[in-house]
Amino acid sequence: MSTNLAISRIAEDAHEGFALQVLSKDNISRRAFRKAVLLAADLVAATSTSTSPYSGADIPALSYFIGELDPMPEIGIGTEAALAEIGPAAIAHSLDVGHPAAMAHLHCPVAIPALAAEVLITATNQSLDSWDQSPFATLVEDHVINWLVGLAGLPSQASGSFTSGGSQSNLTALHLAAEKSGPEARRKGVIFTSEHSHFSIAKGASIIGMPADAVVKVETDEEGRMRVEALAKAIATALDSGRLPVAIAATAGTTDLGTIDPIADIADVADRFGIWMHVDAAYGGGLLFSRHRDKLSGLHRAQSVALDFHKMLFQPISCGALLVADGASFAPLATKADYLNPEDPVFADAPNLVERSIQTTRRSDALKLLITARSLGRNGLDRLISRTLENAKDAAEAISKRRCFALAVTPQLSTVVFRYLSPAGPVRADGLSLKARARLFQNGIAAIATTVLDGRVHFKLTMLNPNSTLEVVAGVLDALETILHDLETHHAF
Ligand SMILES: *Cc1c(COP(=O)(O)O)cnc(C)c1O
Repeated sequence: MSTNLAISRIAEDAHEGFALQVLSKDNISRRAFRKAVLLAADLVAATSTSTSPYSGADIPALSYFIGELDPMPEIGIGTEAALAEIGPAAIAHSLDVGHPAAMAHLHCPVAIPALAAEVLITATNQSLDSWDQSPFATLVEDHVINWLVGLAGLPSQASGSFTSGGSQSNLTALHLAAEKSGPEARRKGVIFTSEHSHFSIAKGASIIGMPADAVVKVETDEEGRMRVEALAKAIATALDSGRLPVAIAATAGTTDLGTIDPIADIADVADRFGIWMHVDAAYGGGLLFSRHRDKLSGLHRAQSVALDFHKMLFQPISCGALLVADGASFAPLATKADYLNPEDPVFADAPNLVERSIQTTRRSDALKLLITARSLGRNGLDRLISRTLENAKDAAEAISKRRCFALAVTPQLSTVVFRYLSPAGPVRADGLSLKARARLFQNGIAAIATTVLDGRVHFKLTMLNPNSTLEVVAGVLDALETILHDLETHHAF
């Protein structure tokens, strides 16, 4: 049977509703693809009437609906029916990340050009491990990485690769730093980071086999920034006790407060002791694309930088990158496999990006960032990002004017943290705050977060949506006050 005949046989089967429907260059499968994707797009576009970030459906109701779905019926029901059956509920009971009152987490609304790019990414299904599995996409990623390296101000020998996000970027960076420090790193290495750094730093250190006490949490100032004198002292103490400093992991935009560590001062300390400086810019890295990029001064001196585009840059999950100042740092990941990237290259000059990643099979996420950035341009990206910062500033001002709330810190990024002042004292305020957050979510009014700062429960607004204006925030604060008031009068402990 010739190849063409085989393809058309598969396509005929697909046409007749058989289970095998794979996208290929024949007209029948392309029509089936187009129809299925347009159906899905229509489902998404049809639900524009949502007025709540969450439907309010409770877990038993959702579990019942989902539990009724036999994942694999004996005879398939077809794409159209499967979409019609699951799609509307999947959309209706999702957190509406584009809702202006959805501001709980570092979870952004998505840019439309990126969503369109996702269709290209998934339909072409390129894999970034070897060049022959992604002839165009590999070069796109390289190009986008070079652009990011330039934005971050890293030297010309810098390199990088896309990752699933900040956690993987941090893990990889710590591994590269430990490898650079030599075999002793796993026995007596230390990583210095602030009290406010993301848990993926400690988790990463543990995964790569650092000692249990490897992560030293350096004290922060009242705004949550790493204290540089405390850092220098911690390094000296570690050296005195025979430990091996492996890396300093600074944070540009902490997950809770959006605080940026003093990167340039930390770089001075790193230089003085000859230690790898990693900057976790998973959140704050978005500033590179805005007029506020000066807030990241000193970033160009990092040995590695973690960036997340599914935080401040409106990309669908997942989309992150790890940049390293010296491409040679990737050497520990550059394992050669006969089947993939043999010592003796099959394709001359072909980059095999598996050599810069802990993943093998990997999505072409750079493509959606490229399409988004070209679509919006520097100006468009700056306007969107700067707007979120302005919204946060407005929200902080509004909060500080309300008598029942106390602002924790002046926002540096787009996160606003504040706490409730209960007439019955802070312990009751903590309890009521958690209850109020849950009620706000279940009533479909807003999705906001809570966290603990200085031992007290705080509310947190993570304002990644340019549409979360002062008006929206004022409405959320009014609702929150009403709920808290109601809880004060009706809720006995
Ligand atoms: C979100 C976040 C991470 C984790 O990133 P993922 O993309 O969720 O893996 C790491 N560091 C900081 C500062 C973050 O805000």
